[in-house]
Amino acid sequence: MHVAIVGSGPSGLYTADAVARLWPETEIDIFDRLPTPYGLVRGGIAPDHQSTKAVARAFERTLARPGTRFFGNVEIGRDLQYEELKAAYDLVIFSVGAENDRSLGIPGENLQGVYGAAAFVGWYNGHPRHHALEPLLEGSALAVIGNGNVAVDVVRVLAKTQAELADSDICEHAARRIDAARLTDLYLIGRRGPVEASFTPIELAELGELERCEIVVDPAELAVDVGPEVPEKEVKVRQRNLEILRSFALRTGEPKPMRIHVLFHAAPVAILGNERVTGLVLERTRVVDGRAELTGERFELPVETVIAAIGYHTPQIPGVPFDEQRGRFKNDEGWVEPGVYAAGWCKHGPRGVVGTNRTDAGILVKRIAEDLSSHPLPEGKPGSAAVATLLQQRGVHVIDFAGWKRIDTAEIARAQPPKPREKFVTAASLIAAAASELESSL
Ligand SMILES: Cc1cc2nc3c(=O)[nH]c(=O)nc-3n(C[C@H](O)[C@H](O)[C@H](O)COP(=O)(O)OP(=O)(O)OC[C@H]3O[C@@H](n4cnc5c(N)ncnc54)[C@H](O)[C@@H]3O)c2cc1C
Repeated sequence: MHVAIVGSGPSGLYTADAVARLWPETEIDIFDRLPTPYGLVRGGIAPDHQSTKAVARAFERTLARPGTRFFGNVEIGRDLQYEELKAAYDLVIFSVGAENDRSLGIPGENLQGVYGAAAFVGWYNGHPRHHALEPLLEGSALAVIGNGNVAVDVVRVLAKTQAELADSDICEHAARRIDAARLTDLYLIGRRGPVEASFTPIELAELGELERCEIVVDPAELAVDVGPEVPEKEVKVRQRNLEILRSFALRTGEPKPMRIHVLFHAAPVAILGNERVTGLVLERTRVVDGRAELTGERFELPVETVIAAIGYHTPQIPGVPFDEQRGRFKNDEGWVEPGVYAAGWCKHGPRGVVGTNRTDAGILVKRIAEDLSSHPLPEGKPGSAAVATLLQQRGVHVIDFAGWKRIDTAEIARAQPPKPREKFVTAASLIAAAASELESSL
């Protein structure tokens, strides 16, 4: 059997692993539009969360498995078309994630100084699409809109000192810009209340451990309890979040030069400014049946940068059925059309941690096996031989697993310890690094 997996993030690699376990003879080709594998593990997860990024070691074993090939720097929809994949492979599994930012949909969103979290996080993580963002960080106040872990990551990375980031793999360009910034007030803004916030306790607690930054929460916001509307399995997490926030509100001590203000019940309604952001207008909300309702009471924050961490959607690929409303591929529990499936964030939307994709991959592959037992595959698809020819004819510079390992080695070698790696951030420099050892040995 010839299987194409499109996207080498957690969902693609866990799916590859599950396919290989069930059908060890399968030829698995894994495509990624970046020259590097691992999706958000490389380009999304915060640079100071190295222990989470260590999952890449397990992913490497999946990529190195005999019968598996990595086709890096190959974008489906650009370098190869969907129909071509279907013609070449018995199964096509999309695992392309959800890498486009959802927009706020408010006036002022296009001003200089407004960024989506995918772009901002991609900037400090050296994603080739976002490395050149050069975000405006010249003002003293910045707002991050969103109450999930991504919003918490962003304020934490901005609040950390260079010493605190020393053993992270934050890109040099971003570390320099953050160091030069003169930020004093970071606002973490949620439309709903502390009970509804979706950050997790470990990430929230980290905000209380920052060297130069204190955390400010209005205790009046915390005079609430987790109600019966919260699903049973979430109750403990929400209660723990409340406890942590209360402990923040009770803190006394020497003032620090930076503050994270945690604001709840505040919906963004407009961003002010002519060319650049000069302020953010918020409207107070109350939560009714779990939803934020506007109250008409407005206030302004004098921020000069706004980062929206309010969710993502999957980029469309010509020919692949798409659910516009949900912003992901149309699918029925992973089934897209005969022989085509979706896994991970492009299947169910942007939620869940890395490990969630492992469970999901197991369920998906079980489903594929059931489908194959009732609808056996037609014989004779050519697999990678066909696409390799097409890619060669089109002059696509494919980075294989050995090429990625050369990039990996070069990034580790050029980092100043204790920094674990200094990433190459442009497609050209990644491609050059992939070829480096090869050229020197010729
Ligand atoms: C900012 C951020 C921080 C996070 N932090 C954590 C954390 O600390 N801990 C945790 O457990 N989880 C974290 N997560 C969640 C975790 O990253 C996701 O659960 C996981 O990455 C989703 O996997 P995926 O494979 O569906 O998508 P992705 O990881 O996005 O992988 C998709 C891959 O598809 C490729 N691709 C896209 N389009 C194409 C195309 N047309 N052709 C070829 N390739 C394509 C992309 O380049 C990418 O490599 C975080 C998520 C974000 C956004």
